Amino acid sequence: MAITLSHGQSAASAVSTLKKLHHRIVIIGGGTAGITLAARLARAGQTDMAIIEPSSTHFYQPMWTLVAGGVVGANTTARPEERYVPRNVHWVQDYAQEIDPENKLVTTRGGSVIGYDFLVVAPGIQLDWHKVEGLAETLGKNMVTSNYRFDLAPKTWEFLRQFKGGTALFTAPGTPIKCGGAPQKAMYLSADYLRRKGILKDTKVIFGSAGTTLFGTPEVRKVLEGVVARYGIEPRFYRELAAVDPVKKEAIFELKNDPAKSRETIPFDFLHVVPPQSAPDFLKNGPLAVPGDALGWVDVDINTLQHKRYPDVFALGDCANLPTAKTGAAVRKQAPVVVQNLLSVMSGKTPQAKYNGYSSCPLVTGYGKLQLAEFIYGTPNEWHPTIPLIDTKKERYDMWLLKRYGLPFLYWNLMLRGLV
Ligand SMILES: Cc1cc2nc3c(=O)[nH]c(=O)nc-3n(C[C@H](O)[C@H](O)[C@H](O)COP(=O)(O)OP(=O)(O)OC[C@H]3O[C@@H](n4cnc5c(N)ncnc54)[C@H](O)[C@@H]3O)c2cc1C
Repeated sequence: MAITLSHGQSAASAVSTLKKLHHRIVIIGGGTAGITLAARLARAGQTDMAIIEPSSTHFYQPMWTLVAGGVVGANTTARPEERYVPRNVHWVQDYAQEIDPENKLVTTRGGSVIGYDFLVVAPGIQLDWHKVEGLAETLGKNMVTSNYRFDLAPKTWEFLRQFKGGTALFTAPGTPIKCGGAPQKAMYLSADYLRRKGILKDTKVIFGSAGTTLFGTPEVRKVLEGVVARYGIEPRFYRELAAVDPVKKEAIFELKNDPAKSRETIPFDFLHVVPPQSAPDFLKNGPLAVPGDALGWVDVDINTLQHKRYPDVFALGDCANLPTAKTGAAVRKQAPVVVQNLLSVMSGKTPQAKYNGYSSCPLVTGYGKLQLAEFIYGTPNEWHPTIPLIDTKKERYDMWLLKRYGLPFLYWNLMLRGLV
C-alpha cells in the first residue's frame, strides 16, 4: 500500500512528493540474485514482496564472453526486466540509496521510503572504471575495450577484427571481481580468433594481472598453464593497471611486489581491461558493510547468508562478503539457502541451511573448448566437480555446448523462474 506522508513526519519526509511503502520482504536488486530469490519466495507462498531495481533490461552477463568472440549477438543477452519480476511482486523502479536497519527502512534515489520486515540485499557489484586513470574516456575507442559492459562486449569483437598484429594486452585487477575467470576467457578466445586468422604469430599476447597465479585451484591452474603455453601468452603477475594513455597507446601498471611501487609501461595495439570492483557505494558507506572494509561487502555469515548484526537482513550474489568466486552459478546455490533461512527466521526459528561456497566458472579456452571449473570453500577454493561420468578437468567440446546453449536456457527458463 502506498501512503503519501505529510511534511515533518521524518527527515526523509521533508520531500513533499515522498511516498511511503511497506512490504514484508524487500529485495534490493533485480539481477540474477534478486529475481531468482523473488521467484523462489513467490513459489514458497510469499505474497507481500517488493524488488527495488532501476533497470528496465535484464542481462545475461555470462554470454558477453561469447558476444566478444563473435559467437552470438549482444541482443541475445538482454530481455525486458518486467518479464521476470514475478507476478504480485511490487517492482520499485529506482535505485536504493540508503538502508536504515535500525528502523527497517530503505530510501531510494527518487525519494521513496520503503519499510520492511525482512530485507534481502542483492544489488551486485560496482565497476570502478574511475580507479584507472584515463580509462573511462577511452573505453570503446582507440582499440580499448572490456567484456564487462553490454555496450562494450561487441566492441571487443569489432576491434579484434580490425587488429592487424602487434601487442594484444589483457588485464585483471587485484580486487575481487565477478567471474574471476572472465579476464582470461576474453584472452583465450581472442588468441584463438587470431590463430584462426593467421596473425597470432605476429602478435604478442600479454596477460597483465594483479594476481600471483593463473587460478587458485590447482586442478584448474594446471589446465590453464597448458592453454597459455599453447597460445604463446606471456603472463605478467603482480601488475595492477593504474593508467591508460590512449594517445601513446600505453598501459601503465603499478608493480605490487615492489615496495617502492614502481611502474611499468606496456605499449599496446589492442587492450582489454577488467576494472577494479567493489560493493556499490551506497553499501560501502552504510551500516551493513563489513566494518572497516574499504570495498564495502555486506557482512553476512558465509554459510547461512544472514547478516552478522541484523538477523532480519540477508545478502547474496556479488555484493556479499563470501570467500568464493562471485558468479551466477554461486547465486544458484545461494538462493535456496537464503529462502530456507529467511522462512525460518520469519517463523521465529534459527537458520539451518548452509551454503558450502559452491561456485563454478565455465572457462572458455578457445572456440569449441571449455574447462568447467567447479569449487567450494577452502584455501584455495577446493575442486568440486558435480557432473558425473565425464572428466571436467579437461577442456571439452560438450562443456562448450553447455555454455553456448544449455546454461542460457537454464538461466532464462528455469533459474529466473525459481525452478532450479
Ligand atoms: C563478462 C562476464 C562474464 C561472466 N561469466 C559468468 C559465467 O560464465 N558464469 C557465471 O556463473 N557467472 C558469470 N558472470 C558473473 C555473473 O553475471 C554475476 O556473478 C551475477 O550476475 C551476480 O548476480 P547479482 O544479482 O549479484 O548481480 P547482477 O546480476 O549484476 O544484478 C545486480 C542488479 O542490481 C541492480 N542495482 C544496482 N545498483 C542498485 C541499487 N542501488 N538499488 C537497486 N538495484 C541496484 C542492477 O541494476 C542489477 O540489475 C559473468 C559476468 C561478466 C560481467
